[in-house]
Amino acid sequence: MATATIIDGKQFAARLRAGIAEQVARLKADHGLTPGLTVVLVGEDPASQIYVRNKERQAREAGMNSFEQRLPATVTQAELLARIARLNQDPAVHGILVQLPLPEQIDPEAVIQAIAVSKDVDGFHPVNAGLLAVGGNAMVPCTPLGCLILLKDRLGDLTGQRAVVLGRSNIVGKPMAALLLREHCTVTVAHSRTRDLADECRRADILVAAVGRPEMIQGDWIKPGATVIDVGINRLPTADGKGRLVGDVAFAAAVEVAGAITPVPGGVGPMTIACLLLNTLTATCRQHGLPAPEVRPTAA
Ligand code: NDP
Repeated sequence: MATATIIDGKQFAARLRAGIAEQVARLKADHGLTPGLTVVLVGEDPASQIYVRNKERQAREAGMNSFEQRLPATVTQAELLARIARLNQDPAVHGILVQLPLPEQIDPEAVIQAIAVSKDVDGFHPVNAGLLAVGGNAMVPCTPLGCLILLKDRLGDLTGQRAVVLGRSNIVGKPMAALLLREHCTVTVAHSRTRDLADECRRADILVAAVGRPEMIQGDWIKPGATVIDVGINRLPTADGKGRLVGDVAFAAAVEVAGAITPVPGGVGPMTIACLLLNTLTATCRQHGLPAPEVRPTAA
């Protein structure tokens, strides 16, 4: 049986970041502008600290200014909102990202809505979600944007493709569906109440899995030759206590059926941070009335 092409998201993301760095250098040279990204980290969650460190490092490597705002886990919502209000006014800050999850005394929706729409590089603000839904000039959430870039790189024009998105969260499933619809796919969104999930998946030319259930999607749920994008990041326990990362797709079986598939790790994950940088570049240009540059992946 044919074996799927493995879509190397890590390598693609490195090339995309190199392309972003080129455009950042051009923006500096032509307009004296340096994109600035501020990541707000509340508390000491170890996983969040790692994510934040990676985002900051990659922003700096792309030539951007990277600012970190650390707040204690005991911070009040009012204090956090006041901090965001100051960042909204700061002309050196073009993108604001508040690392989730937040401590329980803070309402994440209130925080997301406090971020200026133009600086919302996560694309979670309801105005950006609305703009995406109506086909406007939205900041697009980074993970689905990364998935779309990989899909277009692999497949070119997506018009007419049958796409199934598994998962309907505001940060992955729904924006992914909106993006695929914008690309003229025929889109089905499946979720925990979907009947005959396997049958729905089997119809998909493009299958995007974002459910957070380890290896749930079986090989025989996949249409032969389909392109499979596995967003899931699940840690399975191992004897050494370190755990093993797996996606939502049973990779070993899927690779025998699919035409192309993203691995976990090394697929969608690295694209998410690259797209955060892309959004920061776009936000900087828009805030200064400049057209967002077309970023091409280049040799890293
Ligand atoms: P959520 O938990 O917010 O959403 C999960 C979705 O999957 C829900 O719509 C839920 O349905 C659906 N679902 C759950 N169980 C089933 C099931 N048994 N059958 C069908 N549908 C099901 O997760 P996220 O969207 O935030 O994340 C999804 C996965 O992607 C996670 O593993 C997460 O770690 C990963 N992720 C990876 C990123 C990356 O950079 N690679 C970034 C963001 C997330 P319902 O709505 O009915 O409850």
